[in-house]
Amino acid sequence: MKRSITKPPQFVSLNLQICNNPPEMNTDLASPLKKRHQRPMRPEILTPLYQSVQVLPKIGPKLAGLLGRLTRGSDTEEARVIDLLFHRPYSLIDRQRQPGAANAVDGEIATFELHIDQHIPPPPGNKRLPYRVTGHDQTGEMDLVFFHAHAAYLEKTLPVGETRYVSGTVEWFRNIPQMVHPDHIVSAEDFAAMPLVEPVYPMTGGLSRKIFGRAVSYAVDLVPDLPEWLDKTILEPRNWPEFQQALIQLHNPKALSDLEPISPHHSRLAYDELLATQLALAITRQKMKKQKGVSRAFSGTTSQKIIAALPFSLTHSQTTAITQIEADLRKPERMLRLLQGDVGSGKTLVGLMAMADVVEAGFQAGFMAPTELLARQHFQTMQPLCDAAGLRIAILTGKDKQSHRKAVIGGLDSGEIDILVGTHALFQESVSFRDLALIVVDEQHRFGVHQRLALSAKGVAVDVLVMTATPIPRTLVLTYFGDMDVSKLMEKPAGRQPIDTRSVSQDRMDDVIIGLQRALASGQKAYWVCPLVEEAEILDLTSAEERFANLKSVFGDGTGLVHGRMTPAEKDAAMRSFKSGETRILVATTVIEVGVDVPDATIMVVEHAERFGLSQLHQLRGRVGRSTGKSSCILLYKAPLGETARARLNILRETEDGFRIAEEDLRLRGEGEVLGIRQSGAPTFRIADLQVHAELLEIARKEARLILQRDPDMQTQRGHDLRILLYLFGLDEAIRYLKAG
Ligand code: ADP
Ligand code: MG
Repeated sequence: MKRSITKPPQFVSLNLQICNNPPEMNTDLASPLKKRHQRPMRPEILTPLYQSVQVLPKIGPKLAGLLGRLTRGSDTEEARVIDLLFHRPYSLIDRQRQPGAANAVDGEIATFELHIDQHIPPPPGNKRLPYRVTGHDQTGEMDLVFFHAHAAYLEKTLPVGETRYVSGTVEWFRNIPQMVHPDHIVSAEDFAAMPLVEPVYPMTGGLSRKIFGRAVSYAVDLVPDLPEWLDKTILEPRNWPEFQQALIQLHNPKALSDLEPISPHHSRLAYDELLATQLALAITRQKMKKQKGVSRAFSGTTSQKIIAALPFSLTHSQTTAITQIEADLRKPERMLRLLQGDVGSGKTLVGLMAMADVVEAGFQAGFMAPTELLARQHFQTMQPLCDAAGLRIAILTGKDKQSHRKAVIGGLDSGEIDILVGTHALFQESVSFRDLALIVVDEQHRFGVHQRLALSAKGVAVDVLVMTATPIPRTLVLTYFGDMDVSKLMEKPAGRQPIDTRSVSQDRMDDVIIGLQRALASGQKAYWVCPLVEEAEILDLTSAEERFANLKSVFGDGTGLVHGRMTPAEKDAAMRSFKSGETRILVATTVIEVGVDVPDATIMVVEHAERFGLSQLHQLRGRVGRSTGKSSCILLYKAPLGETARARLNILRETEDGFRIAEEDLRLRGEGEVLGIRQSGAPTFRIADLQVHAELLEIARKEARLILQRDPDMQTQRGHDLRILLYLFGLDEAIRYLKAG
């Protein structure tokens, strides 16, 4: 079938939009923004792919919106042609079987060549009975059944006395095979062009399979023949098709094996995506490394004061990590280091020591937390230590009062504030430091590669220390952080005891509550985690509010509640009461999953544990066992448990090794969930699946390095071809780090 689509106007608005950007900041953080107008235009050859899907036949604004939700996860942005192309089929419908009416199998999809015999409309006044069309082939009879039929339409598509091909699911009814609302009815001529194998895509409400399938097949026609950016040595031994061909094959599976992620076309596209990601990260790194860093001169007396103020001594790993970081800071190169350490290993302190060092050297430091709650907590724990060391620390979040903001901004500008703690909103606003030298980013795994690029853009001359509490497998570190230097905290502080972990059926809730009563009476503190507070949720999740009311009737005023819908002040108050011991049992949603630190809390109860990811449970469990006291974790599950669910909970009981848990989680659930990015909405891969393509990731990383070694500004022909690849996967931000040319 030949389709013609009118060529859309050329894409010209990009430059204008960027030039209109107001200069937001006047520190060195802002320089990449100012340079933005140098950003190269998207290669013209890609223009057709970046049009709204509205250019496709029969797609209007409403469908474009629905498709946007389906393929981009966005309620506000329309889908573009490229978004459809990267939406993968997960199954197929095979219409190749033509068994003949008499041999049709109940419940199976098949195709029949029927002679149309008779139309039997429902009796007038009884619209609930269907409209029947009878037909036959050489083997026997078959009925076609339609509800709410339009007689005129059916008379036209199924003319009596003629032959039609019909395809759909067969049901046997009173010894006659019938088909209710056939999927396809076509004449012999059209049948020749009808694909007998149809891909099946993940769908969203309001969108029909037919409409989507048609839109995709038009979209595939728009894919231009692009220059090959992959190296022969990668392509040839693997028999991979070229990009255009790979997309065509992706959307035209002929057999189930074509849907396998290891099929050549899928592997090729996955490799493209991985290479684009690795290349973007490598470019960013190259840019940061090239920029002249500043050697920070300090003797370490300030950070020693912090150590002196601690009631404990540093672990061996903490000391090693600090030594590595201090060496980086003293070097006249930029630092880009990942501090990886399991929950409770004491990363915050390492970050604080690094900040103390740069302040001693005469600069300022910023500490970026993923949530308001954590920003406040970090501020509260750091403040006394800063006081002891003579450091001036302040906090700034998106929700502060204007007067506070003003004071903080003034203090930063004049240099009266040494350390600023905040959420990432902090770096988006017009906050200007006098002399920012170091940004510490806590829990960065919650941001994807795109955010990572944006962050680097904001910290051009600044050293960066990224801390992550989720023990991420190496493949994922590479994917999300690229080639960073890595420090690891391998051990927990001395004296920590293993957390006694048990899984208990929710049926035994009463016993759990009795046990809790005893524990709280003896002075312990407990968290009680519920999965969601979403009334609209169809699943029968116990909402935190309900559980709170229920536990309050047992534990009285000692019961607290914290969840994501509360205002920051309310959350703050709830955390403070729990910390001080005013409340002894804190009912919470997963807002406490990451980072929350109340060392004398020793009991963690998780309701509906079977619904959480393993790494998430590990994080939650990490909220206890933060002191030398004995801690326990009770995983309440709803019986009966499936086999996988049981296996998952068992892993938690067996080990506290976050790395092992993360590997298992990756194996059982897929990379998006491990990183918690499904929930936070950060982008994950569209094509690649790390459970299958992990080996390709390693190859892509090496190739990305090699590409930049040979052609640092991507000026050769291949460099330009690879820029196209970056655009295709939305990683063109990285291109502006290359020299224009
Ligand atoms: P995470 O690595 O999960 O972010 P934190 O930085 O929150 O861990 O530290 C966990 C707890 O351990 C905190 O209460 C912190 O004060 C404490 N801590 C940090 N380092 C040590 C240490 N060397 N010895 C004992 N406790 C420590
Ligand atoms: Mg932490």
